[in-house]
Formats: sequence, C-alpha cells, structure tokens
Amino acid sequence: MISFLDLKKLNSVYAEQLREACARVIDSGWFIGGQELANFERSFAEYCGVEHCVGVANGLDALTLTLRAWKEMGRLEEGDEVIVPANTYIASVLAITENRLKPVLVEPDPQTFNLSAEGVQAALTDKTRAVVAVHLYGQMADMKGIMALADQHDLLVLEDAAQSHGASIDGRRAGSWGHAAGFSFYPGKNLGALGDAGALATHDEALAKMVRGLGNYGSYRKYENEFQGVNSRLDEIQAAMLSVKLVHLDREIVARRKVATAYLEGIDNPGVRLPHLNAPEQHVWHLFVVRCERREELQRHLHDSGVQTLIHYPIPPHKQQAYSAFGNLSLPLTEAIHREVLSLPISPVMSEDEVQAVVRAVNAFA
Ligand SMILES: *Cc1c(COP(=O)(O)O)cnc(C)c1O
Repeated sequence: MISFLDLKKLNSVYAEQLREACARVIDSGWFIGGQELANFERSFAEYCGVEHCVGVANGLDALTLTLRAWKEMGRLEEGDEVIVPANTYIASVLAITENRLKPVLVEPDPQTFNLSAEGVQAALTDKTRAVVAVHLYGQMADMKGIMALADQHDLLVLEDAAQSHGASIDGRRAGSWGHAAGFSFYPGKNLGALGDAGALATHDEALAKMVRGLGNYGSYRKYENEFQGVNSRLDEIQAAMLSVKLVHLDREIVARRKVATAYLEGIDNPGVRLPHLNAPEQHVWHLFVVRCERREELQRHLHDSGVQTLIHYPIPPHKQQAYSAFGNLSLPLTEAIHREVLSLPISPVMSEDEVQAVVRAVNAFA
C-alpha cells in the first residue's frame, strides 16, 4: 500500500538531528519559554519575511488569539463580520466564532478553491471588519487583490497559512502579506513538529506582544495578569524539533513539486480534474487534490490498486452539526467541492516508483 503520508519515513531522514536536539533540551533542564523558542521564532520570522513570530500551542490558537488580540486592542468588537472562505478546514471558522465575531462564509474561486478578491468584495457590508484569507492546499489566495480591498475598506487581514509554509507571490512568502498570519505545525503540515505547535507571524510589534501575553495567562510578569488569557505556548522540545526541520523545508518543497509535476504530466483521465495552479513556482503542494464526480468510486478503485487517499474535506463547516445555525445556507460550489475532491498521496519522501504507480492507478480508473 502506498501510504498517503509516511510521517515515520519523513522524519527518519532527520532522526539523528532530532534526537540530538531533544537531548539538548533534556540536558538544559528548561522546557517552556527559553532559548529554543526564541531561536525558532527568529528563524521562522526571517523565513516568512516578517519582523515578529510568536509560538503558540497549535494553529487554531494562532488564529483565535490573533482575533482575540485585535479585540483587546480595540480593533474588533463582538458581532463584527469576518469574511472567510466557505470551503476551509473548520479551524478557520472556529477562530471567528470563539471570539463571538460573525463569520461570513464566501464561495471560493472555482479554479483554485481559494478566496478571491471578487468574493470578498461581494460579501462586504458596513459591519465587515476583517478577512481570514485561507491559503488552501499549499497555494496562496489572491493576496494582492485582497490587500487592495482591505486598504480601501480599512479591513484587518488574517492569513490562515496552516497549509502554505513557504508559498509565495512575487517572491513574498505566505505570512508576510496580511496584518497577521496563523501557522500550524501539526505533524502532517509541510513544516510539522513531533506534536502540536503553531505560530503567529506579523509585522505588527504591538500585536505580537498582545498574542504573547494572551497565550501566557494574560501575563508579562510572573503572577501579574493584565488580561484573562489562556495557556497556549510552543514548548522547547517542539521548538527544537521545528528548528531542525525548518532548515530542510525548501528542499522538501522542491521534492513535493517534483511529485506534483509528475502527477500533472502523467495523469490523463477525462473523469479526473487536475488542480489549477496560478504559477507553478508559488505552490508548495501541501495537498494534491483532484476532482471527480464519482469520487467514492475513484477512492475505492485507488484503494484496491494499493493507493491510500484522503478527503480534504468531506463536510463543509456550514453543514457540520457544530454549525447547525448555518445549515440552511446555500453554497453550491463549496458543497460540490466537498462532494468531489480527493487528495492523492504527496510528500517529500515518495519514491519515483510510488509516484508512477499512483499515476497508473488513476489513469486506469474507467
Ligand atoms: C491544520 C489547519 C488549521 C489548524 O491547525 P492545528 O495546528 O491543527 O490547530 C487551521 N487552518 C487550516 C487551513 C488547517 O489546515
């Protein structure tokens, strides 16, 4: 069986360095808020092209705490409308509702499945205060168009970059376009920790300081609490793991592109629609998502051919029980996407034989 993502193989490439880094933290006797975190935050900020990075416990917290920080800073208020693509992972929406802001779910661009400037424009009301721009599958949303609208209408833009570490437009990376960006380092992401981890990236020093305080019980000085904060910190072990892996991220992206190129060139099946790319050098291929009207049959056929696939995602947020209040919204494009998408295996450690076996299996689907 060709696995969807072989995390054991992926991390085993760095096993020695990871063990060394782990031993360094154990020997230091310091596990929260130390040098490993500071080092990783500095390198990741530099990688993204921003001044500030704040490690938090996971990607959802990076998004939630940023919106919360904007509330504490008086830039958002309960009930404000926040535009978000309807076809996203539920975390993008949870971050909004957790802050008692109002998500406005918008149909995506039919080609890229990402939020478009036209989509944002059409959803604007006099209550719109922010946009969560999700960079789905490894490709960035139209940040030029979205930022131009944001400037015009005084909107805050939060990039959900959980799937797009290293993606870029005109050489400017994901995380450096909006007023802030949330990253996830969940093990399966393109930059993955060996556990949960996340970060905020921003040019805004005051925002970075606020998120750091909120994630540390609302405190900057031990036992003095300025805000009713939470505990959301990136620990030393995970920061050390991430520092090891960040060095190799660009090489891994190149390897992912090679797999994607082989799929794009090799897959030739009229029943299977290949992903659309704005510009090949900008996509970091977190996921390789094809569209097929007979998705369940294709998935079964691939399984029987020894290829593991996953669906990102089977149920859109507005059809989730958790959001039953949105259940009567009609978002036909988003719903069609969720019915038809299938993610093929992609990773920096797939062999050429495995890649060609996937191509053959997809092409053999009648
Ligand atoms: C993974 C993901 C998140 C959440 O990240 P966690 O670290 O799992 O909390 C948020 N948004 C998107 C688009 C994601 O893919």
